[in-house]
Amino acid sequence: MAAQERIAYINGNFVPESQAAIPIRDRGFIYGDAAFDVARTFQGRPFRLREHLDRLYASCRYLRLDPGMTQDEMEELTLEVLRKNLPLLGENEDYWVTQRVTRGVETPDGDVPTVLIECRPLPLATRARYYRTGVPMVTPSVPRTPPQFLSPRAKTHNYLNMVMGDLEARERNPEAWALLLDERGNLAEGKGCNVFIVKDGAIHTPNVQFVLPGITRDVVLELAQSTGVPAHERDIDQYDAYTADEAFLTSTSLCICPVASVNGSTIGDGTVPGPVTRGLIAAFSDLVGMDYVGQYLAHGG
Ligand code: PMP
Repeated sequence: MAAQERIAYINGNFVPESQAAIPIRDRGFIYGDAAFDVARTFQGRPFRLREHLDRLYASCRYLRLDPGMTQDEMEELTLEVLRKNLPLLGENEDYWVTQRVTRGVETPDGDVPTVLIECRPLPLATRARYYRTGVPMVTPSVPRTPPQFLSPRAKTHNYLNMVMGDLEARERNPEAWALLLDERGNLAEGKGCNVFIVKDGAIHTPNVQFVLPGITRDVVLELAQSTGVPAHERDIDQYDAYTADEAFLTSTSLCICPVASVNGSTIGDGTVPGPVTRGLIAAFSDLVGMDYVGQYLAHGG
């Protein structure tokens, strides 16, 4: 084992990551038959872990998948993984911490779930530029999986729909992030993010039925309420996007990150971030107790 190797939890054991192995017939691997969730730390402390675990257990319930442990046990194991790995965290860095529950390997006696918990440093350096320039977004031809096929509200290992969208978006612009539309042509979400537009001082985001209920999305809706910004969950079409004053995306890792353009059409007057987004970023930074944009920029020199 390398001296600096991180430790992961897998099926009852804490092991160096290089020794954490998944059987070749694990259903999470062969069918994408698994649920997962990802939280992040701020200055080493996990943020909204309970909400992430509520969502993980809801995803498992939707998939009729029993993790074989209580949510409190999963929380304690997650905190233990973080405790074991915090000494390896670089200066001014933070972790993503992920739980995965798969249906495991089929046996004559039924399925035995695989539970994996691991953490890794956030990709601060490669993403820093998005806070300077905003994210260019592209709507690919592939629509987001509709809820009656496989609910986008569950966070499952089945990301191919978004991977296909992302590949197409990057084909058009290597810098771009995919912004998938739903089957009716309204904005849905990106591969790992929710989207908001700002119009006349109010924020608007797609209905939760068609997207993952992002933990960060919820935080932004709370912050909007506490800072007096009107917020609406509704259908948003491409006209709304092209004529928006500002736009931003939300995710666990990026928190709130400005969007520069949609399909090459500049959002608003091109100021990144716009005033409403800037106010929400400030409120978010207050809530998490650190300047997360500054942390990104410090790594993205
Ligand atoms: N949508 C999708 C499809 C995602 O994978 C993610 C990342 N979990 C999000 C939205 C954002 O959710 P959160 O704010 O909880 O990270």
